[in-house]
This record gives sequence, structure tokens and C-alpha cells, in this order.
Amino acid sequence: MERIYIGMGSNLADPAEQLRSAIQALAQLPDSRFAGVSAFYQSDSLLPGQPRYTNAVAAIDSELEPLDLLDALQAIEIDQGRERHERWGPRTLDLDILLFGDRLIDTPRLKVPHYHMQARPFVLYPLAELAPATLTLADGRSLAQLLAECPFVGLERLPPIAESNQPAR
Ligand code: ATP
Ligand code: MG
Ligand code: MG
Repeated sequence: MERIYIGMGSNLADPAEQLRSAIQALAQLPDSRFAGVSAFYQSDSLLPGQPRYTNAVAAIDSELEPLDLLDALQAIEIDQGRERHERWGPRTLDLDILLFGDRLIDTPRLKVPHYHMQARPFVLYPLAELAPATLTLADGRSLAQLLAECPFVGLERLPPIAESNQPAR
């Protein structure tokens, strides 16, 4: 089993509900165990003219290979109505693999650690709720250092509603 952190985001069609549906779907992944989810965070879109985003990070422990997990995550995105038009366009659901154990992956379809996580407070702060304070990424960077360089700006942490953010058992 490897610990995997997944960044979730939505800014269409009831974003919080999209994230809750995604959590249920992650809890059904084969050869995997759901290991927790952060609070939900809202922030303005980085691109003008889009609705506000709701983001969270989930953790799973899994025996899936990285590309098999990516396939499964993309199937969940499509199942929840994800349509890709312009890059970084509004979306019902985005599921990105942030960290996959201590693997460094650099293939055309998959790059891990996620290439832009260090610049995204809506990724780093929810990740920090789940990951140990001492977490070091596979490329040697420490989560603590990334947090120190990425101020908590523009983020609104929604009060955690413990039951509704957890997968049904
Ligand atoms: P960003 O990558 O900047 O967060 P995005 O999530 O909106 O943008 P997508 O359209 O969801 O981008 O994904 C584009 C492609 O990124 C996917 O088809 C996938 O093959 C590739 N990709 C590379 N690395 C990853 C990763 N770590 N997690 C998810 N997808 C990845
Ligand atoms: Mg993304
Ligand atoms: Mg994505």
C-alpha cells in the first residue's frame, strides 16, 4: 500500500456536492482504502470570469499503479460531468494526483509530485491537514518549506461538517 494524496476541485454544478460525490467514489476505488479528507476551502478562480472554486485534498492508501489510478480518477471526473474545453476552464470536478508514496513520476500523462502544487494555497493548506508535519516530497522539498513560501491568501476554510465530508460506510 502506498499513501496517495489527491487534490480535488470544482467550480460548477454545486461544487461542495461534487466534492462529496467524489469522496464517495474514491472510497469505492479497487485495491484501495480511503484514508481521510481535509476541510473544504473556497477561493476565487485564478482566471477572471469563472465562479469561485471549492477545493479539498483526500488521502487514500492503494495498491493501484499510478496510471491505473489516473485512469480511475479520470473516469470519476467524466462520470461527474467533466468536460474539457479550454485549458483551466471551469469544471464540475478535477482530481489531480499530488503525491504518490515517495515516487517521482515524469511521463507524458502523469507528473508527480503535481507540477504546480507549490504555488497553490488551495492545495497546500488542505494537504497539510492530512499529511504529517514532517512530510518530505519525493523530490526532497519539505511540505513545511512549501507552506512557508505560499501564504494563506484568498482562502476561506469552510467549517468541517465531519459526517457529510466522510464516505458512507
Ligand atoms: P492543472 O494540471 O494545472 O491542475 P487541470 O487539472 O485542469 O490543470 P486537466 O485537464 O485535469 O488539467 O489534466 C490535463 C492532463 O494532465 C491530464 O490528461 C493528465 O494526463 C495530466 N496530468 C499530468 N500529471 C498529472 C497529475 N499529477 N494528476 C492528474 N493529471 C495529471
Ligand atoms: Mg488541476
Ligand atoms: Mg486535473
